[in-house]
Amino acid sequence: KRIITTDLTDEDKKVDNTLRPQKLDDYIGQTKAKGNLKVYIEAAKQRMESLDHVLFYGPPGLGKTTLAGIIANEMDVNMKVTSGPAIEKPGEMAAILNNLQEGDVLFVDEIHRLNRQVEELLYPAMEDFAIDIVIGKGSSAKSIRLDLPKFTLVGATTRAGMLTPPLRDRFGVVNRLEFYTVEELKEIICRSSDVFQVKIEEDGALELARRSRGTPRLANRLLKRVRDFAQVKYDGVITKEIADFALDLLEVDKLGLDNTDREILFTMINKFDGGPVGIETIATTIGEDSGTIEEVYEPYLVQTGLILRTPRGRVVSDVAYKHFGLRQEKLV
Ligand code: ADP
Repeated sequence: KRIITTDLTDEDKKVDNTLRPQKLDDYIGQTKAKGNLKVYIEAAKQRMESLDHVLFYGPPGLGKTTLAGIIANEMDVNMKVTSGPAIEKPGEMAAILNNLQEGDVLFVDEIHRLNRQVEELLYPAMEDFAIDIVIGKGSSAKSIRLDLPKFTLVGATTRAGMLTPPLRDRFGVVNRLEFYTVEELKEIICRSSDVFQVKIEEDGALELARRSRGTPRLANRLLKRVRDFAQVKYDGVITKEIADFALDLLEVDKLGLDNTDREILFTMINKFDGGPVGIETIATTIGEDSGTIEEVYEPYLVQTGLILRTPRGRVVSDVAYKHFGLRQEKLV
């Protein structure tokens, strides 16, 4: 079972719900997005209006859903949650919209996966808080306009590039979420340890933070695993030694890379002389979906400078060769 997956496991869902901060001030990191939101939320509240539509984009597990919840909380409204692939027909979206209360937040995860007709229904809904429904068929068909309560659409996507321009343009606030620093992750890990009521030493938290790929969801996932080790094999306290031991066993390395990350890098080094090589070619060679590589694996590898993106394709950097203790020549 992979540690780094996009799929939320049932365990994740439980963990996510207990660990999600509820207020903007408790939300660690993402200083820019947080600062932005604070101003917009304050202004909307002063004017007693609903908040403008908000789009969050960035790799999975960075806190998009959490921020949507915080917005609803801070605005003191309810949040309805749905996702792009979950809504098949415009009628289903119309029903959701129609059931919202004034000011409510509608969170649409994976918003880039909405189908065309559903998306088109959203245009007037977002812009004029109204939808047009066609009643009847053929020559007796009539279009009637249905007014909606003023709501806030919060969209989340891992692939901002796949949003159509008309949809993207209808978001007043657009925030890109960044990978977290080690210090920020350490803080998140300490907070989560408190919630789990597990003791963790400073060094232990730091080691976990370093190996969490800049991602809170992974930090929490690794913390849970390491906690189990600490509980069963030691006296319950997470020290650096235990963190190291457990993470090595889970095959998460010092930079947080897992087997798939290594497979991508080794494939590029061994089969393509370190690149340049296209993402599709890498995907086919290792038998992984190219979208998953692009959304889940590559962003961190690019962020840490292990992979460089060039116009001719991806290239393995010196940093990567160094990390693996390799000279720039083929692996045998
Ligand atoms: P996304 O929607 O981007 O995939 P989530 O909002 O579901 O990510 O966050 C994943 C997990 O990480 C949740 O358990 C959440 O509590 C935690 N998390 C995310 N961002 C933060 C943060 N800034 N501070 C504390 N915990 C966070």
